[in-house]
Amino acid sequence: MQHPVLGAAGERKLLLGNEAVARGAIEGGVEVAASYPGTPASEILETLAEVAEEVGIYVEWSTNEMVAWEVAVGAAMCNKRSMASMKHIGVNWVIDPLMHSVLHGFNAGLLLVSCDDPSGHSSATEQDNRNLAYMAEIPILEPSDPQEAKDFTVEAIEISEELRVPVLLRLVTRVAHTRGDVVLGELRRETRKPEFHDDFYTEFVLKKGFAGPRVIPELHRILHEKLERAAKLAEKRKLNKVEGNGGELLIVSSGVAYSYVKEAIEDLDVENRVTVLKVEMVHPFPAELLQELLRDHRRVLVLEEGEPYLEREVKLAAFDGKCTVEVHGKLSGKIRRVGELNPVEVKKAIAEMLGVEVEDRKPSIGELELGELTTPRVISFCPGCPHRAAFYALKRAINKVCKGRYLAIGDIGCYTMGMNPPLRVQQTVFCMGGSIGMACGAAHSGLDHPVIATAGDSTFLHACIPGLINAAYNKAKLLFHILDNEATAMTGFQPHPGTGKTAAGREARKIRIEDVAR
Ligand code: SF4
Repeated sequence: MQHPVLGAAGERKLLLGNEAVARGAIEGGVEVAASYPGTPASEILETLAEVAEEVGIYVEWSTNEMVAWEVAVGAAMCNKRSMASMKHIGVNWVIDPLMHSVLHGFNAGLLLVSCDDPSGHSSATEQDNRNLAYMAEIPILEPSDPQEAKDFTVEAIEISEELRVPVLLRLVTRVAHTRGDVVLGELRRETRKPEFHDDFYTEFVLKKGFAGPRVIPELHRILHEKLERAAKLAEKRKLNKVEGNGGELLIVSSGVAYSYVKEAIEDLDVENRVTVLKVEMVHPFPAELLQELLRDHRRVLVLEEGEPYLEREVKLAAFDGKCTVEVHGKLSGKIRRVGELNPVEVKKAIAEMLGVEVEDRKPSIGELELGELTTPRVISFCPGCPHRAAFYALKRAINKVCKGRYLAIGDIGCYTMGMNPPLRVQQTVFCMGGSIGMACGAAHSGLDHPVIATAGDSTFLHACIPGLINAAYNKAKLLFHILDNEATAMTGFQPHPGTGKTAAGREARKIRIEDVAR
């Protein structure tokens, strides 16, 4: 049976948002794709891995997100359209090479896909990566459903190639993990000749004969020029849309929040009372388009998922355009600032702004808080999980040897659940690779009881090796507890270098953790 992402142009398929991104990558001519597993992003590379041989794409699970981004940059530098996809927290790892890569310029499109997880359903933070891309000064596209997830992937790759700058495609859980109809576009399968090109090298090292600090402000100026061109490209490609012509209220929205807005306007039957500015390229923000709309509106409601990113842009554009308007959103307190947005809140906010009564009906199952439907319990290990026995043995040893006095710090993975009852072994957990570095600090703090760091096999290879070397070099007295189940288990059992398998299912050299640790 044909894989759903390999249908012909014009076919309509029911795809997950992440599968739609994978299809977009194929339509966009991506030849190299890299990732590190993480919910809600994993299905992008998993899908590409399933069809990689058939469509001729090189795919890999990299050892971490930073390496994944570097792989994508290296391939783009050699004329291959490339992408790296990851969960929002993974982008924190990418910041260093990203900040460098924005100052170069390659012949091929280069895409960074971030799947943000508002409310932290499967994450330890709910950061909004539009802010990170803003800091890196790169264009951001934000799809609102699976169809746009595919279409914007293609747009983003083309824009990146035209501007010679990376582009961020920002999804959130409700787009990445939503299934929807997707009409497929043309498949683009060209194999480009690999050739090195970097504007930094040709324009500065070769032509001017120098690189280094004197060049940085010039590279930064070029980046600003590229952003100005991005704003013009957004206009040319009609990436930001105005819908409706109602004078009472201007709604500014993007991403999944726009889908909620559309539904609410229809439900409330207020099509003639609102105008909607749907922002698709959120950076650079379409300030002039907004200022035109502000001439006919005195009240603005900003609806977005994550931080009040658009709301700040709206206020700035209103100030610059000398427009006197009321701006409502997360900063004004109209919309809850933390946690995931939902359709009920969006509808209520629009109704309140327009003075429309909302029917006080019984909520549907989908609208009920989970706590009302389920028996509260903490997340725990699967039945038969080997980690349970490992933590039990550790707990017994701790009780016997140090009478229960110890400090145990964990990383992020299934073993994080070792802090939950009934085991309650770890007192605290941090980020990927964090436990070993923090255990070094705790060990040198003068604490008079044992310090234990815990990580899994995939996390060890992802981020623990520098911390372990640091512990050995600086003689930190600690116990490093590595729970090796030969998979990136929590995110769906993806392979890693310790499994001896690649993303495409090929045999690879198996990296033994004990050999590295020795
Ligand atoms: S998925 Fe995680 S919790 Fe479940 S058995 Fe594997 S390691 Fe244990």
